[in-house]
Amino acid sequence: MGQPDVVEICWRYDGSEAVQRPELNSAEARALLDAGNEAFAGLGDSDQREVHRVVQLSASDLGLAADGAPPPQEPFAAVLGCADARVPVDLVFGQRVNDLFTVRVAGNVLGNECAGSLDYAVEHLATMRLLVVMGHTRCGAVAAAVDGYLNPIGYLGVAANLPLRSIVDALTPAVRGADVALRLRHGDDAVQHPGYRSALTDAAVVLHAALTADVVRQTFTDHLDHIDVAWGVYDLASRRVGSPGAAAWERGLRAAPKGADEFQAFARDLAGSAHITALLD
Ligand SMILES: [Zn+2]
Repeated sequence: MGQPDVVEICWRYDGSEAVQRPELNSAEARALLDAGNEAFAGLGDSDQREVHRVVQLSASDLGLAADGAPPPQEPFAAVLGCADARVPVDLVFGQRVNDLFTVRVAGNVLGNECAGSLDYAVEHLATMRLLVVMGHTRCGAVAAAVDGYLNPIGYLGVAANLPLRSIVDALTPAVRGADVALRLRHGDDAVQHPGYRSALTDAAVVLHAALTADVVRQTFTDHLDHIDVAWGVYDLASRRVGSPGAAAWERGLRAAPKGADEFQAFARDLAGSAHITALLD
């Protein structure tokens, strides 16, 4: 597979109106995000020397409407993502101005302010059809939680820093769950392996995204028919949002497991996935 020398991604208003989207349902919203990510990720896989992608904007998107009226806020999805500078949500999903209601915080943890932001989107934006929780591989916030978990003495430094601690502590349940799953799958001595920290970090990223999506579903949408919840992990290496599968990185957003039994099976499969096993080896 080739790799282009030039990749151009352009938001353009050129006098023509952007294509108006029909009203979406939640499945169509999810498919639109999956397709947008594939279009973005696929640019880097092209055999052509130069690749270009134009995202057409309307006049009102840029505040250029003839009547001067500001556009109404009309996102079809909200995304809770990490603050990591390598994971720009609109670009990763290939979407336009006014398509995504984006909440970003280190480790995509669901604190009060972030939950309040999602609550606003659900309650006040009539176009909303999908809530997405997106983690990413090699997340620094999750790695900090892993370090505190593997080295409790080192965690004492974090414990004295209340703002940082609030993030690390929110990630620790996923780290603990991923640790148990990795030991069950690969044996207690797996922790001695040089790749264990990396494997535990990415396994915790995945588990945390799925757990958070389950919390979001129970908190905001269980009583709603028109809004669904999905999760995914952005793989920094391939630029694709998906999750670790048995044999390869599986593309696309997915629904969170439900209940203890489904989560245990999910964690077991995650620990044995190709991505996590390769990090461990
Ligand atoms: Zn991160």
